[in-house]
Amino acid sequence: MLVYSHTDCLLKDNGFNHPERKERLDSILESIKQIEDIKINFKEAPFVDMDTISLVHPKKHIEKIFSNIPKSGLIGVENEPYADTMLCTNSKNAILRSCGAGIAAADDLMNNNKRIFCAIRPPGHHAETTKAMGFCFINNIAVTARYLQKRYKINKIAIIDFDVHHGNGTQEIFYNDETVAYGSSHEFPLFPGTGSEQETGVGNIFNAPLKAGVQGKEFLKIFEQKVLNPIDKFKPEVILISAGFDAHTRDPLANINLESKDFYKITKKIVDLGNVHSEGRIISFLEGGYDLLALSESIKEHFLALEI
Ligand SMILES: [Zn+2]
Repeated sequence: MLVYSHTDCLLKDNGFNHPERKERLDSILESIKQIEDIKINFKEAPFVDMDTISLVHPKKHIEKIFSNIPKSGLIGVENEPYADTMLCTNSKNAILRSCGAGIAAADDLMNNNKRIFCAIRPPGHHAETTKAMGFCFINNIAVTARYLQKRYKINKIAIIDFDVHHGNGTQEIFYNDETVAYGSSHEFPLFPGTGSEQETGVGNIFNAPLKAGVQGKEFLKIFEQKVLNPIDKFKPEVILISAGFDAHTRDPLANINLESKDFYKITKKIVDLGNVHSEGRIISFLEGGYDLLALSESIKEHFLALEI
């Protein structure tokens, strides 16, 4: 297993009492290092370049975000009720490396590394083409998908998102694109408000909204029916995972009741699909997850299943 990360990703500060904090990544990296049964190679995430970002986001939009980075303190990027997507002095490097991890991982993936995890922050799945929101600036997984298509001529990519929040950004970016299938399980209604089953794109969007209180067994059933079965029919050549661990019962931002071991079962089902259709090629990206114990336990389960 290959893991991309960088100390720059620990330097992004969102202010006092913000759930998206550096300790999340500390907890994940510490836990990964304790896994004895899997040989893990750590690599430093490089910066992504502007041309690659522009496969998804207009350069002007990204330059505007960077031009707002404060010389000290914090500044929010949103003009909406959820004004909690913050820029600090160290944001630029963290943002560029989070996306760069995916690009480097894509190169490794096509060079015979079958399983790669990007241990990064800020996350990406809420970032739309021209809108930073939900702690996200660049949609890391979307840029990686576009890069795989352009550089390696991959025709069909599936993005599977089990973060408890709907990946509105990823959905928006690929809404009219039949070459990318997007399947998401998420609590509904919940931030960001999108993700109903009626949002189907051009037959490439598969949303599985979940009621608050859902437990592991029901989650897996719905996930299989509404996300995995259609993606099985799609037959992706590569699978990308938006791995958020905030559907855990301990998570403070949502109300789905998964246990840590459920992340093994979810991941195993994705891996089974990847082994059938995608030559086992899977890159997983850290998205959300805000309880440190849940993160440290769940990431181990995710890795154990990815190794199969
Ligand atoms: Zn989330």
